[in-house]
Amino acid sequence: MAQVLQKYVGRLAPSPTGALHLGNVRTFMVAWLRARSQGGRLIMRMEDLDHPRDKPGAAQAALDELKWLGFDWDEEFVQSKRKAKYREALEALKAQVLVYPCTCSRRDVEAAQSAPHAGEQLHYPGTCRGRHPVYVPGACWRFKVESPCLVEFDDVFAGRQRMDVAAKLGDFPLARDEFGAGYTLAAAVDDAEMGITEVVRGDDLIPATPPQILVQRALGLATPAYCHLPLLVGTDGRRLAKRHGDSRIAAYRGQGLAPEAIVGYLAWRSGLVPENAPVTLASLLPHFSLARIPAHPCVLADTGLMR
Ligand code: GLU
Ligand code: ZN
Repeated sequence: MAQVLQKYVGRLAPSPTGALHLGNVRTFMVAWLRARSQGGRLIMRMEDLDHPRDKPGAAQAALDELKWLGFDWDEEFVQSKRKAKYREALEALKAQVLVYPCTCSRRDVEAAQSAPHAGEQLHYPGTCRGRHPVYVPGACWRFKVESPCLVEFDDVFAGRQRMDVAAKLGDFPLARDEFGAGYTLAAAVDDAEMGITEVVRGDDLIPATPPQILVQRALGLATPAYCHLPLLVGTDGRRLAKRHGDSRIAAYRGQGLAPEAIVGYLAWRSGLVPENAPVTLASLLPHFSLARIPAHPCVLADTGLMR
């Protein structure tokens, strides 16, 4: 029987809210290897909808630094230029009365525009649910969740995931923008529209996944496979941050470090090569397997690049 094999399409989705650092690069490294080792395509999607937090120049710097490290991609998209798509999706959700504007607290509203990272999730009690789907200045759009609302998916790396979205989040924020240009709606729309077959990203976004799946279902869009990777942590077991030293790629580059040294270090910490030695990204292709990446958070040893 003829089988149609779907070609792998992956994406790199940086947010220009800060400088590219080792943590982003390790996730992108796995995303790149995952796509290229299967002869797949890769899309660069700049997620620049987070206006108050976006830093001028950060998008271009991230692209330059990724190229310097040996990354390539086949197509480039910028979310701020795709607002018509999000607006269309929002209109479709409004027509189904699946969204309403919420004016609750500033904190709730802020959560709508950024990618919600682990620990930032708030349960919303549905205070504004009775509102008509007509925008109110300063509001965020919320997506109506029926109770219960169990969403399950088999994560390629993290295994089976399940969330009762009604119990955990309630009606979740879609976008803090009159026309729907916010992280959750944009990611759900773009992953489907760009034909992404697998999303590789940090496991802090596991809780953001069930809402994205619900939005895709409501819009009749396809849902990709998901591959959530553990984050980088310092030797103290805490998520990589400034206190662990300066892990910005620009800083290493400025100190004269070779891109191969950075790639080699991350590949070593990710279990892909046996020692900390300079390598090119492309040279990792024959060794690459998701199975070699440890399931626990990737600890940055106080050696190699850390100073
Ligand atoms: N742009 C998001 C971030 O940098 C990633 C979103 C995603 O991969 O879906 O946190
Ligand atoms: Zn509200």
